[in-house]
Amino acid sequence: MHGIIATWRMAKEGIELAEGLLKDGETSGKAIEAAIRAVEDFPYYKSVGYGGLPNEEQVVELDAGYMDGDTMSVGAIGAIKDFANPISIAKKLSEEKVNNVLVGAGAEKYAHEFKFEEKEMLTDRAKAFYRKKKKELSQELKPYDGHDTVGMVCLDNSGTVTAATSTSGLFMKRSGRVGDSPIVGSGFYADSEVGGATATGLGEDLMKGCISYEIVRLMKEGLTPQEACEKAVNDLDKKLKEKRGAAGDLSVVAMNNKGEFGCATNIAGFSFSVATEELEPTVYLVTRQEDGHCTFEVASQEWLEEYMRVRMAPVEE
Ligand code: ASP
Repeated sequence: MHGIIATWRMAKEGIELAEGLLKDGETSGKAIEAAIRAVEDFPYYKSVGYGGLPNEEQVVELDAGYMDGDTMSVGAIGAIKDFANPISIAKKLSEEKVNNVLVGAGAEKYAHEFKFEEKEMLTDRAKAFYRKKKKELSQELKPYDGHDTVGMVCLDNSGTVTAATSTSGLFMKRSGRVGDSPIVGSGFYADSEVGGATATGLGEDLMKGCISYEIVRLMKEGLTPQEACEKAVNDLDKKLKEKRGAAGDLSVVAMNNKGEFGCATNIAGFSFSVATEELEPTVYLVTRQEDGHCTFEVASQEWLEEYMRVRMAPVEE
């Protein structure tokens, strides 16, 4: 059995690519990297890779993480500038014995040394979004718009589970700010004996629950991916509200090593993309019920077209 699941509609083309590779017997690591690179390279997704929205100083700082569930190897980078494919750098770091997590100038030095593609990641379109936001927020800079991390879990025919993320983090974040996405256990986690999970939403809150690890732990205890996702999101949402009065956006997806998958969210509007040996690449829209249970339905053609139309519409300043 093989399969791949990812946060958001934006992963669809990447998932299609990975599904083809997995079918041909490619490894989970190579398939997930190819899938995330496809999202990073697409200029109209403003929260991942090229075209990602900048921080408050108009600099695009990127985070990425990778975990191999066979070996527990982890690699991650934080706040890296001007490299085309953060996921490939994170994956390469996972092969090192030490220094697996690098940030800022150190991460850039490493990427340069290993000849990863250098690229100016700030597009004219992202600059236009920045100018627009700056105008709107002339009183006070408040991050968190135009976020959405791509996170994926991938299972190959030999039973290897990997998990990976890539993001430009929160729009208008502080320089040097790192969210959950490159933090193992928070943004992503994989254990081939169980499965994997990944998250998107407000990194500062997702981290408080080590949510991806928690989902894998719950699956290990015998919960289905759907049960594990719902329990992890609902428990953290409740605790944050009790202790802090509010909970940020928390959305997750998971797949176990049988190719069964699940999702959960505490917001309206979460979508995910998934493909398995038995299911062609499909985008689902998630609805959270009042009792915290999450259901999902196939996105209509109309929804998919509208999604792309909005993503590619001119930026009105
Ligand atoms: N979790 C990401 C971060 O906090 C953003 C997102 O997924 O929307 O950097």
